[in-house]
Amino acid sequence: MKERTGTTGLVFNEPLLWEMGRTGRSGMSPPPRDVEPAEVCEELQGKGPDFPDLSEPEVVRHYTRLSQWNFGVDSGMYPLGSCTMKYNPKTNERQAARKGFASAHPLLPDELSQGALRLMAELERCLAQITGMDAGTLQPAAGAQGELTGMLIIHRWFENRDDRRTKIIVPDTAHGTNPASAALCGFRALAARSGPHGILLPETIEELMDDETAGVMVTNPNTLGLFEENMEEISRIVHERGGLVYCDGANMNALMGLVDMASTGIDILHLNLHKTFSTPHGGGGPGSGPVMVRKELEPFLPVPRVVEDESGALRLSENHPLSIGKVHTFYGNFGVMVKALSYILSMGPNLKRASELAVLNANYIKELLKDTYHLPYDRTCMHECVFTDALQQSYGVTTLDISKRLMDYGFHPPTIYFPLVVKGALMIEPTETESKETIDTFIESMRSIAREAREEPDLLLNAPHYCKTERLDETGAARKPCLAG
Ligand SMILES: *Cc1c(COP(=O)(O)O)cnc(C)c1O
Repeated sequence: MKERTGTTGLVFNEPLLWEMGRTGRSGMSPPPRDVEPAEVCEELQGKGPDFPDLSEPEVVRHYTRLSQWNFGVDSGMYPLGSCTMKYNPKTNERQAARKGFASAHPLLPDELSQGALRLMAELERCLAQITGMDAGTLQPAAGAQGELTGMLIIHRWFENRDDRRTKIIVPDTAHGTNPASAALCGFRALAARSGPHGILLPETIEELMDDETAGVMVTNPNTLGLFEENMEEISRIVHERGGLVYCDGANMNALMGLVDMASTGIDILHLNLHKTFSTPHGGGGPGSGPVMVRKELEPFLPVPRVVEDESGALRLSENHPLSIGKVHTFYGNFGVMVKALSYILSMGPNLKRASELAVLNANYIKELLKDTYHLPYDRTCMHECVFTDALQQSYGVTTLDISKRLMDYGFHPPTIYFPLVVKGALMIEPTETESKETIDTFIESMRSIAREAREEPDLLLNAPHYCKTERLDETGAARKPCLAG
């Protein structure tokens, strides 16, 4: 590449506000006081918060500069596998910021919240249609909490039938949160090995499934970016032994309008609204992990639920005696729901096109990089593809070095060393929102890095070179974090 996409030209070092502040400096000039000062009790005197004194431009510049140190989906391509870091259209933010939604109080009575309740009911209906499931809850605040909610529902289902089951099957290609969620509900996770093509084989499940096993928890598409093609057969086996099938649907971005998930035999699945349905994520902001179920599991969903009475009015109902109870204050993260419904309605039938493009883009990258990077599973992928550093290792270059160097080329690194079943994994999820030009530049950058690995490996071993900081001691940073800057 002749030209780099980035420059460090105007990136400043930024001191802490406390280091910049000067006593008496202020962002405003109130009129002189014309009343006697109030008495402050002795204990409080001199005990005000230790806030620095700063002028308005100092504060504005400080935060603007800090924001420029950030890299996000609004600054460039962010191919972080399993995270669906796609561009989120700003119109959805605008809808969520509308006064009626943004300032609705969760304690308002149902009669005064008909619009908000209608929005929730409508979103549940849309998600049911997209997944093929019958009913759902919008309460969980994240994918992992959706899993926990799903596991609690499964637990309650068996409890209600007086059928105590202690184990659950979790394949090695499931997301790492899956066994954790199962364990939190008291289930022992039985690891199932995926077959030679990276997907689950029915015979593996046949072997593990017994009358003490609650079922199976499958991530589909799995963490290798591959579609679990044997789900119908696997579901049949699990159901025959009285078990239930949980699907981690956090990666629905690959499947919208393409796969009717219910027809694969699953009983329960969660979605990540903050991945597929347009909520920016990654910075710890609010998320939403709705759980969708088959009719038989509906009575166990969390309360309150939005129900419609004979007159067509909506209300929040707590009257569901078999429910697992509440998993979030009020009813979940409402702002995320507004963005999701806005996204779904503005996309309409184009949701299918979005998934098609997400899959096409990942396969395009896979095909154009597979002669440069080792591709452990050479078959059609879904929304992401997984390479390794096997071809670069003879130059002493690893996945970490490749990722760090990619930052010099202006790209956020992909997910690395995950999934664990692939040694030295580089997991790339381009999403549907990148243009062909951007993806081509990414591919060219990855090729250029592979060339550097051969010819100038030192460039990679010390990368990044053009970022705000050079290579950090990551172990040191994790063990002895210095949060003061
Ligand atoms: C992201 C993801 C999760 C976890 O979702 P959070 O919202 O981060 O809790 C679970 N499973 C899969 C497959 C995922 O990609």
